[in-house]
Amino acid sequence: MAGKPLIYMDHAATTATRPEVVEAMLPYFTNEFGNPSSVYSISQKNRAKVTQCREAIAKTLNAEANEIYFTAGGSEADNWAIKAVCDAYYSDNNIHDIEENISDVKNKYRTGRHIITTRIEHHAVLHTCEYLERMGFDVTYIDVDENGIVKLDVLRKAIRPDTILISVMFANNEIGTVEPIKEIGELAHENNIIFHTDAVQAYGQIPIDVDEYHIDLLSASGHKLNGPKGIGFLYIRNNLKIGSFIHGGAQERGRRAGTENVPGIVGLSKACEMAFDTMKERGRKEIMMRDHLIDRILSEVPYARLNGHRTKRLPNNVNISFQFVEGESMLIMLDMAGICASAGSACTSGSTSPSHVLTALGLPEDIAHGSLRMTLGDENTMEEIDYVVEKIKEYVGRLRAMSPQYEDFVGRR
Ligand SMILES: *Cc1c(COP(=O)(O)O)cnc(C)c1O
Repeated sequence: MAGKPLIYMDHAATTATRPEVVEAMLPYFTNEFGNPSSVYSISQKNRAKVTQCREAIAKTLNAEANEIYFTAGGSEADNWAIKAVCDAYYSDNNIHDIEENISDVKNKYRTGRHIITTRIEHHAVLHTCEYLERMGFDVTYIDVDENGIVKLDVLRKAIRPDTILISVMFANNEIGTVEPIKEIGELAHENNIIFHTDAVQAYGQIPIDVDEYHIDLLSASGHKLNGPKGIGFLYIRNNLKIGSFIHGGAQERGRRAGTENVPGIVGLSKACEMAFDTMKERGRKEIMMRDHLIDRILSEVPYARLNGHRTKRLPNNVNISFQFVEGESMLIMLDMAGICASAGSACTSGSTSPSHVLTALGLPEDIAHGSLRMTLGDENTMEEIDYVVEKIKEYVGRLRAMSPQYEDFVGRR
């Protein structure tokens, strides 16, 4: 590749597919092209391969192979999980007694028209919930604390007799905060409510056990863990009454029709295998780099604050707000130095609005606008971290020198 060496620190947005993953996928585009549903042997081989991949992925979660459903990524898995529960467990009964409101007697899941989620979910969850509100469901978007952690008493108070689903992400994609998933799952199950978690950021980075954490539905995506884009999966606990998401053929146990994306499935499975094999060592290395990056910035750049919990966070996430700085301007300057990062606000239709996650933490708008997210991968190095810190110091200084607000602030002291 020509040009400046790239320092890639945006692994929460996407990751490069590992060469070993590409290598594992390649034969399935050419020689091994058979449709897993056909009868001849090249197809039978592919059917066996898909089963093998399903088993390998199930093992990483302590799940059964027939509880893994391949999807076209994390957004589809989130959509499916939430819409399917609403479809299967909807009832309009005006029931005020929880004990009376159990339709699925064997599994004791309630019916109704109320969903609980949080204000800091990914848009794949939030916009699905907004759609369901338009369809007549009630949604409670609970607040989180100043570090982005779900407060269990707030969650408990939000539960209604007709609550059918609690959806809380495993770890947040912007601030890296890891939620108390086990406690949330316990609370859901004590109340006979189905529990979904968007684990797209957490899966492959930290250990997950669907039984221990009382998870009924879990979304994951290939391209966030060095696998290919456009492939992911939804874990669906065996006892759930979940209907078809895509109608058609009998693939994915009749619940998601369409010829299997065999190369994608093979790539996803290989990426998962590698992510779990390297998890401990990679996590240790990333935590070391993460903490070095956080410590240096907080001690060397004035008026900077860390967003998200200091320790209950993903090994690779750094999110820092710099007062009197525009995050978008920082991104452009960093890009010119060959550094890829992400800001805490998004330019939508001409106006910049601060991220809903940072707003939910209680950050004032001007501080949220000065936020920078750096998400690391195991190919990053300490040298890169130190280089990035030097660049940030330089750019924050330059941007503040041009800021009238900063001039006012300094003048007033
Ligand atoms: C990236 C992401 C998604 C969407 O996954 P895609 O595979 O890109 O559709 C959903 N949730 C979270 C938390 C994510 O980070």
